[in-house]
Amino acid sequence: MAVSGEAGTGPGADAHCTSCGRPAADCAGCARTLDPPHYCATCGTRLAVRVSPGGWVGRCKHHGEVARS
Ligand SMILES: [Zn+2]
Ligand SMILES: [Zn+2]
Repeated sequence: MAVSGEAGTGPGADAHCTSCGRPAADCAGCARTLDPPHYCATCGTRLAVRVSPGGWVGRCKHHGEVARS
């Protein structure tokens, strides 16, 4: 499945904290590096996170799967 609008450079990238879902302006980044994200960094929507053998896969209903690179 093709996912358009992949977050890269430009406004909107990492606009939200992936741990608490608040706007990046309101949170300096409370996420720990080893923790899976709970919220989409792009839109702040709660992710459905599935832990897999290779790490984790989070899925945003707006942006599709967000896998750890
Ligand atoms: Zn936070
Ligand atoms: Zn999203």
